[in-house]
This record gives sequence, structure tokens and C-alpha cells, in this order.
Amino acid sequence: MTSISKVCILGGGTAGWMSAAALSNKFNNLDLEITLIESDEIGTVGVGEATLPHIRYFNQTLGINEPEFMKSTEATFKLGIQFCDWGRRGDHYIHPFGEYGQPIDELDFHQFWLRLNQSGRAPRLSDYSYPVLAAEKGRFRIPDEDITRIGSNFGYAYQFDASLYARFLRNHSEQNGTKRIEGRVIDVELDGETGNVRSVTLESGARIEADLFVDCSGFRGLLIEQALETGYDDWSQWLPCNRAIAVPCESRGELLPYTRATARTAGWQWRIPLQHRTGNGHVYWNEFISDDEAAHQLMTSLEGPALAEPKQLFFKTGRRNKFWNRNVVAIGLSAGFLEPLESTSIHLIQEGITALVELFPTTEINPLDIAEYNTHMALNFERVRDFLLLHYVATQRDDSEMWRFFRSMELPQSLQEKIAAWSSRGYLLKYEFGVFLPPSWIAVMLGQNLLPEGYDPRVDRYADGELVREMERVRLETEAAVRNTPTQSEFLTRYGATSDSRPLSASLT
Ligand SMILES: Cc1cc2nc3c(=O)[nH]c(=O)nc-3n(C[C@H](O)[C@H](O)[C@H](O)COP(=O)(O)OP(=O)(O)OC[C@H]3O[C@@H](n4cnc5c(N)ncnc54)[C@H](O)[C@@H]3O)c2cc1C
Repeated sequence: MTSISKVCILGGGTAGWMSAAALSNKFNNLDLEITLIESDEIGTVGVGEATLPHIRYFNQTLGINEPEFMKSTEATFKLGIQFCDWGRRGDHYIHPFGEYGQPIDELDFHQFWLRLNQSGRAPRLSDYSYPVLAAEKGRFRIPDEDITRIGSNFGYAYQFDASLYARFLRNHSEQNGTKRIEGRVIDVELDGETGNVRSVTLESGARIEADLFVDCSGFRGLLIEQALETGYDDWSQWLPCNRAIAVPCESRGELLPYTRATARTAGWQWRIPLQHRTGNGHVYWNEFISDDEAAHQLMTSLEGPALAEPKQLFFKTGRRNKFWNRNVVAIGLSAGFLEPLESTSIHLIQEGITALVELFPTTEINPLDIAEYNTHMALNFERVRDFLLLHYVATQRDDSEMWRFFRSMELPQSLQEKIAAWSSRGYLLKYEFGVFLPPSWIAVMLGQNLLPEGYDPRVDRYADGELVREMERVRLETEAAVRNTPTQSEFLTRYGATSDSRPLSASLT
């Protein structure tokens, strides 16, 4: 079926093992030899704990049992991200994985809310969102299968220990025939005629040849950049944060089903609750804050004692000029990096793997397939970039040099158009590609006080009283559905997903 008989994955972080798990699962009917090389000495980036709902489909197609996966990776459920201090200091909102209310006669619910809000009679838009209300109360359950019910209309993701997830997928991949080699790659041999990567050589002297290489070597991009010199499209002019400090700490309080991102003077801070600990990190722009001050801000705001030394990371926002170059496909940090404000990196890994599986060479590597892959991935990266940038520019903050910098920034054309369409009557330009659908844009725009001037005039055909009654019905129904939802801790126990390392009740103060 295919002339590609050997695939070599370089790197055993989240990207490497997700690639190995998917390729060994999808192509186990082909005579495909998959080898993964990783170096314990180099290690992995060791962060990347919050995900998007799509990862559930990734796990499902591998046949992974959800409670077993959650136990093994210390995972918690995630209903969205809470953003604190982004629009104004003191503001907070949750970007949920789900819609607000339900469309009325095919008109978006937020349009009715905009009308009510203009007359000053609207409760929070969040009050019509099951995942927001459940998250705020620390509650969780799997979405209702009956799609007419309010508790069916949302998605969920996970917060997990990235190194445990890699280990979990490693077991899975090895069972499906992936061969793992431990060792450091010290040399890459190119084919003099084609320019393709022919082989990599390990410190031990072992030489690994392959037809197709998947570069999951992390920020260093050992094959895609160091060997093939593909080039990098630097997006620092839009997303200038370039450093992070990460540290886990002991958990305190109820196990919350959401990630938190708190805006700071020169960046922002994350909080990711796992079953056995809380992940924390400060992403910042070193132009406006020293490393020491960034570390100080992080360490003095931890909810419990630190469980490890803080780890510093350096990055440059952007993407590789080509994700697939010759016979090398870059997946993970080697493909590019966008700050983890909306937990998108693992999703972009998944997107890269899905596209590779769809375009996997049958006879030989086809330049048309490469072009298709690169266009698809470039658009996905660009959409995420715009969505992240929205958080920095839809704000009233001007209390530090970083926030003032964003006020005078010239936005990418694509984002300018999106904001302009929204600003007149709350309309959202539809994208062909891109992970974030209109409800996500609505969450951030309204959450950060970017109110449109008007609304869709079609909502005016509803009488005032009728509209108020219908919206109140939805709000009460949402509230009632949340009342009947267990806490996340209760649900994890009931679901058989509590990790063996520590009973959940121990996390409660
Ligand atoms: C501060 C920060 C926070 C983040 N938070 C999130 C988040 O919340 N959600 C999210 O989705 N993503 C997040 N990410 C991104 C996420 O961490 C990565 O996308 C994910 O971990 C994948 O990394 P990777 O596998 O590409 O690289 P790595 O984890 O760096 O793995 C690289 C692999 O290559 C191997 N390797 C490298 N060189 C060699 C060599 N010469 N020989 C042999 N092996 C080699 C290493 O040993 C390792 O196994 C975050 C990233 C950062 C920097």
C-alpha cells in the first residue's frame, strides 16, 4: 500500500508519544515500522497540563478508557478557563467549553442578551451557561445525552500531568509495536541528491534510517530547523511574552474544574488544578519585568508550599515557515509556539497528527500533500494567534507599560476584521479553519467588556415581555441543572477516576 515502510519519531515528549500512539494505531494494518527516539538526559519540557475538549476524541480513537486514563495521569475535568483581571483589574469571567443559552428561532442567543443588556435589564451572559455556573460551583458531570436538555450543551477537557500522559501513551504505543530507543541524537545525515533526511546517529553510534521523520524534538527543532534550516516566522510583534517560570505546589481547597489565567503587569499567571498537585506558572515579557521579579510574583502567590524548584523556560512566539519540509514533519514545539493562555499547544499537536494521518504518503511523498498540510497548519496557528491576541487588546487596562504597548499596537488584518464585524451588531465572521468557534469569541469579547454598538435587528420582532420571560426560563433551567450536579471530587470518585496516589478528600481544607 505504501512505499513508506519506516517512520522515525524524534522526541518522547507529549508530541512524540501522541504521534507514536496515533500512527501505530491508525496504520497497524500496514507493514510500517515505527521507531521513537528519546533522551532521558535531555528530558522533556515538562509543562503542558491544560487541554481543549478535542483531546477526548484523540483518546477515544485510540480506544482509551477514560477513568483509567484519568487515574493514571492524575487528571481533573476542565469546563473552561477563568480569566481574572484581563478587561479591568478586579474583573473575572469564564471562557466555557459550550454555548450560552440556546438559539431562539435560529437566532443566536447572545443577540437577545445584547438587546436586554442595552436596556440595562440583563443578568450576566454567564448565567445562561451551564459550564460556567457548574465551574463556579466546583461541580462536574459528563454532558447529558439528551440533546434537548440544558446540561447536554457543553464540552469538557482535562488537566493532567504531562509526563504521566506521555508515559501512558508510551505503554499504548509499545503495545501497538512502536519501538523505543533511548539515546541522544548527535548527527543528522542528509541525502546529497534529494536533501531529505536519510538517517540520524545516536551517541552510542547506532544509526537509524527512515523514509519519513516526525520531528518532536521540542523547541530545538533538531531536524526541521537545525538540519533542514526551514526558518521561523516570528510573531513576537503581536505576542511578545517570551519567558515563563513554572512551579507545582500543594493543592488547597476544593478541586476546581477549570484552569485560571490571571493577568499581571507584564504577562499573566496560570493555575492548573490536578488531583495530586496544582500547576502554576508565570508567562511574561522580559522587556518589562526582571526574571527575579517575575519569580517573586509567582512564588508569593502560590496557594500551598512549592513541590519543586521553579523551572525557567525561554521561547519565541511564532511558527516554522513550513511544518512539513521534505521528508520531515514537525509536530509539537518544533513546529512553533503560542503562549499557553488558551491551552492550545496540545491541540495543535493533535491537529498536526490528524492532518498527517489523512495525508500519509501512499506511494511517495507528494509535494501537493505537503502544500496542503502546510496551508492547513498555518491557518490553524494563525487563528489561535489572533484569538490569543484578542485577550491583550480587548481591555481597558493601561496601568503598566505592557498594557500600554498593546493599546497602540497595529493588529493583524484578520483580527481587525473580526473585531470590526463584532463591534457594529455582535456578528462573528465565520472561519473555515480554527479551533475557536463563535461562543469562544463571544466569551472573551463580552468578558472583557468589548460590547457591540447594536444587535441583530431581527431580535426586535419579539415583544419585550415575551423575550424577558423566555430568557428567564433558560436562566432558571440552567441554575436548576447545576444544582443537580455533583462536585468534581464526588464525580471523580463515582466515576472510578480518582488516582491511587492520594484520596481526593485530602485535597479539601
Ligand atoms: C510555559 C509553557 C506552558 C505550557 N502550557 C501548556 C498547556 O497548559 N497546555 C498545552 O496544550 N500546552 C502547553 N504548553 C506546550 C506543551 O508543553 C508542549 O506542546 C508539549 O509538552 C509538547 O512538547 P514537545 O513534545 O514538542 O517537546 P518536549 O517536551 O521538549 O520533548 C522533546 C523530546 O525530544 C527529545 N530530544 C530532543 N533532542 C534530542 C536529541 N538530540 N536526541 C534525542 N532526543 C532528543 C527530548 O528528550 C524529549 O523527549 C506549554 C509550554 C510552555 C513552554
